[in-house]
Amino acid sequence: MKTINLKIAPCKIVCVGRNYVEHIKELNNEIPSEPVYFIKPNSSISEEIVYREGLHYEGEISFLIKNKKIVAVGFGFDLTLRDIQTKLKQKGLPWERAKAFKGAAIFSDFVEIDDLNNLEVEVVKNGEIVQRGGVELMMYKPDFLVKDIDEIFGLDDGDIIMSGTPKGVGRVERGDEFIGRIYKSGKVLVEKKWRVN
Ligand code: ZN
Repeated sequence: MKTINLKIAPCKIVCVGRNYVEHIKELNNEIPSEPVYFIKPNSSISEEIVYREGLHYEGEISFLIKNKKIVAVGFGFDLTLRDIQTKLKQKGLPWERAKAFKGAAIFSDFVEIDDLNNLEVEVVKNGEIVQRGGVELMMYKPDFLVKDIDEIFGLDDGDIIMSGTPKGVGRVERGDEFIGRIYKSGKVLVEKKWRVN
């Protein structure tokens, strides 16, 4: 019988909300005095983007963790049901219905990395660049996030950190074509294309 090592699969995805000032402004949110975190479960990970009403894309630099360190980087979509999230925020309720649903986390492959400088994320929607931003624009940088998240939640091998989205979030429609890219010093490190079902 084959044994399955549960550590191969990520056991959680920790997401950082409001990490880019320009994105905070576009959603009329307050600049937080400490990072905003929320968690997506394993079951939210999907290969495909499936259309839902009110679905928004948020392209994010995503980090894979091993031995409490960032070992690889990939592109991630923190898919969000924006209308539901807005209602939940107004009522002071948890965000899971808007952020942790089936199909809410989409990733490219992850590429090993040892230096986190000059990383950028880009989202191309139907041939047009709609998001571009990187570590330089983050309020809370990757090294801080790893330490802080480990102190609060604990980080296990295979966990993923989604480091927040730059400005330019928007709606997802049926048939849209998205390309998610991660750049390192201006060169494409990894990219993936999706068509919305
Ligand atoms: Zn996000």
